[in-house]
Formats: sequence, structure tokens, C-alpha cells
Amino acid sequence: MKKQIVIIGAGLVGSLLAVFLKRRGYAVLVFERRPDMRKEKINGGRSINLALSDRGILALEAVGAMDKIKSLCIPMYGRSIHQEDGHIDFQPYGKEGQFINSVSRSELNKKLLTLAEESGAKLYFGYRCEKINWEQRQVNFVLPEGKTETLAFDILFGSDGAYSSARLQYMLQHDRFQYEQHYIDFGYKELTIPPGEGGAFRLEKNALHIWPRKNFMLIALPNTDGSFTCTLFFPFDGELSFASLTHPEKVKAFFQEYFPDVVSLMPALTEEFFRNPAASLVTVKCYPWVKDDSFCLIGDAAHAIVPFFGQGMNCGFEDCRILDELIVQHQHDWKEILKSFQELRKPDADAIAELALNNFIEMRDKVADPKFLLQKKLEAKLHEKYPDRWIPVYSQVTFSPHIRYSQALHNGRIQEAIMKELVTQPDFERVWDKEETEQRILERIRNQPLYF
Ligand SMILES: Cc1cc2nc3c(=O)[nH]c(=O)nc-3n(C[C@H](O)[C@H](O)[C@H](O)COP(=O)(O)OP(=O)(O)OC[C@H]3O[C@@H](n4cnc5c(N)ncnc54)[C@H](O)[C@@H]3O)c2cc1C
Repeated sequence: MKKQIVIIGAGLVGSLLAVFLKRRGYAVLVFERRPDMRKEKINGGRSINLALSDRGILALEAVGAMDKIKSLCIPMYGRSIHQEDGHIDFQPYGKEGQFINSVSRSELNKKLLTLAEESGAKLYFGYRCEKINWEQRQVNFVLPEGKTETLAFDILFGSDGAYSSARLQYMLQHDRFQYEQHYIDFGYKELTIPPGEGGAFRLEKNALHIWPRKNFMLIALPNTDGSFTCTLFFPFDGELSFASLTHPEKVKAFFQEYFPDVVSLMPALTEEFFRNPAASLVTVKCYPWVKDDSFCLIGDAAHAIVPFFGQGMNCGFEDCRILDELIVQHQHDWKEILKSFQELRKPDADAIAELALNNFIEMRDKVADPKFLLQKKLEAKLHEKYPDRWIPVYSQVTFSPHIRYSQALHNGRIQEAIMKELVTQPDFERVWDKEETEQRILERIRNQPLYF
């Protein structure tokens, strides 16, 4: 008889996971707490749009889904950095032709739900997972009218996000479950730049816009209707913070001082500022993710990270792809599959969590520094000339899906130490593009292995 796999959560990862598992011949049932977003308008979740990059794309391609998702994507070739003096620097993300994609979270989720259904998975909406009984392999759901339902499973996946109920059940019922959650002191608030006349984009369409202001930043990603979703990453407390901007006048004055070029583009700035929540940003680490051959946490439920590398969803999609490869490798032996999955993915999830936190500092502060921009130019030049010996860490994470996150972290630490030594020397601006500088770098990496 076919094994019955139950998935809790039909978010981005749960719905893609359902497609992968159906293709391997399992009976797949997916239970989602919210109503069906294809029929009812509901708040899409944690951000309006997201950056989809090569790791996510590789997973979507593995199930033939990318062709259907392309039309939702707007390519972004680099960062448009809006400096304090008003000029804009453009910093390409990778080599010519490389880009990441801005995509609507809800449209992507809707497409994945339909693909899951078309592949034969059964989807149930309005089912909130409340309790799990591991002895009897049963899961309990609460329905909107308060009724409860119990269901048997052979294998259960918890893909119910950063505040996972499946994880909580596991934690409560199992000894020595390690759990760590860390909130940063910054939150985020979403704001909108509406489209111009006839759906025109009022900023450069094919870029991710950043206004780095040292202790805070604003970013903007394009949407297909010509609008941009802006996100203000800002301290919760302090002199300049969500707590201090208490009146529309203060908000206006703050934007006028720090982001003058966007004020005229945001006609509903103050209304949105007070209507939209200041949401928190959490990193979650836990262990183990799996139980024998019967249970597995995946996606944000296993490893929620801060959004500054644009990798949370990409990492969750990569989880699905790797799990699928392990199903083949271990010939459906679920004890081995889940054991290997956790061994492989835990170090990578920890690594991207660290890289994501580091990238916050880079985005809000360093990209405004001319020396840092020179460093990036030098790295791009090295990458161009020696593509197999120097890959900037951003490219390793974003455009090199076969380099593991843990390898990228390792490589990035070595590269950063080399760069720091160069950038801090007083004549860096003079020597950065000289042959001798290049040779010095090559000499250094000859002695320290990088894993590309
Ligand atoms: C501001 C912000 C920006 C981001 N930008 C990016 C980006 O650019 N690129 C990127 O790759 N990632 C980004 N992320 C991360 C990304 O949103 C997550 O990694 C991704 O949504 C994880 O998918 P998931 O399916 O694991 O969890 P979720 O998307 O959270 O889905 C979980 C699902 O489970 C359901 N659920 C919850 N509890 C229950 C329950 N008890 N019973 C049944 N169902 C339940 C929820 O309703 C939801 O549908 C960003 C995150 C934030 C906060």
C-alpha cells in the first residue's frame, strides 16, 4: 500500500514539497490553517514580494514548475543604491546577465497550490494543526467552526513556518530538543510606491533599490503592476525608531530628511505607516528536525532566518530538492532519508542564518561606503578573470546553487579576511586595480583552500 504523507502548512515550501512527493508516488494530503488564497483574498503572509534566485529556481525546475512561474518574475540585475547626497550608484549582483527575481509571494503561492493539486495532492483549507500523537501516528486539526478531526499518517512533515505548531508539539513531547530563537532589535514595515500613469514604473524597474542610512534602511522591489513594495527596516526603540515616530508630521519629516526622493512617490505614506504593522524579525534554530522514519520539520519551521540575503524561501525550496534526491538515493527508506536530510541540511541552514545576519550590516551600512564599493569592484574583476578561484560570497549564495551554504560561509570568511587586510591599507584606492594587488590575493588563496 502507498505510504500516506501528511504535510502541515500549504505555504511556499509545503506546496512545493507536495509536488515533489506526489511525483515519487506517495499519497499526499496537505492541511493549511488559512482559507484557500485562490478563492478568498487573505493577507499573503510575511512580505508582499520576495527575491527568487538560483537555488529556488533549481528546485522549481526539478519539478518543471519554473516555466509557469517565469511570467510572475521581474529580473533585478543589481542594487540601485540611493546615497544620502541624492546620487544613485548601481552595483551589479553578479556577472553580466545574472539576476535575481522579484516575485509576488501570494501569486507564487497560488501557482504552487494549483501545481500541487494538479499533481494529485489533496489540499484541505481551514485546518489548523493542534496536536500530534507520535505513538499512534495521528495528527489533530481544529476547523474554523471549532470541530476537530484526527488523521493517521505514515510520514508527517511540519512546513508550517517560523512559528510552527508541529515544532512546538515535537518540543513539548521530546526530551533534549534543542531550541533557540533570536529577535533582532529591528523590525520592518511595508509601504507602497504606486504605479505611474498607464502602469509605469516610477523607479528603475530592473533593480533592487536600497537607501542605506547606517542604522536603518529602506528597500524597494518592483511588482508586475508597476508598483514597488518598499520595506523600512528600522529599530523598534530609540531616538529614531518605530517608537519615536508617533505622529504623521514626524513620519513626514523623517522621510523628508532621510529619503527625500521617495516622499513624492508615496502619496499614502503616513496612512500606510500607521496602518501597517511593524513586524519582528526572528532567527530560529532547532535540533533534531526529524523523528525516526515518521516526522520531519522543513522550511522555516526548521530554520527561520532574517530576510537580508533573500534566501529563506530559496533555502526552503532547496530543502525540497535535496529531500527528493535522498528519496532516490535511499530508495524510499525513510529512516535513512530523514537521517541524511538532517545531517546534510542542518549545517547549511545554520550557515545561511549567519550569512543573512551579516548581510544586514552590509546592506544598511557598508554599501554607502566608497571603499566597500571599490572592494566589490575588485572582487567582481577577480571573478571575471579567475572564475574558478574567486567567487564573491554573494554570488556563491545566490548564483551557485551547487556550492553549499556552509561552504559559502567558510569561503566567505577567508575572502573577507583577505579583503579586510587590503581595504584597511592607506593606499587601497590607488592600488586596488593593480597587478601586484591581484597577485597578492592569488598568493593568499593558494595557501588556503576555497571550496567552489
Ligand atoms: C520581510 C521578509 C522578506 C522576505 N524576503 C525573502 C526573499 O526575498 N527571498 C526569500 O527567499 N525569502 C524571503 N523571506 C523568507 C520567506 O518568507 C520564508 O522563508 C518562506 O515564506 C518560508 O516558507 P514556509 O512555507 O516554510 O513558511 P510560510 O511561508 O510561513 O508558510 C507556512 C504555512 O503554514 C501555515 N500554518 C501555520 N501554522 C499552521 C497550523 N498550525 N496548521 C496548519 N497550517 C499552519 C501558514 O498559514 C502558512 O501558509 C522573507 C521573509 C520576510 C519576513
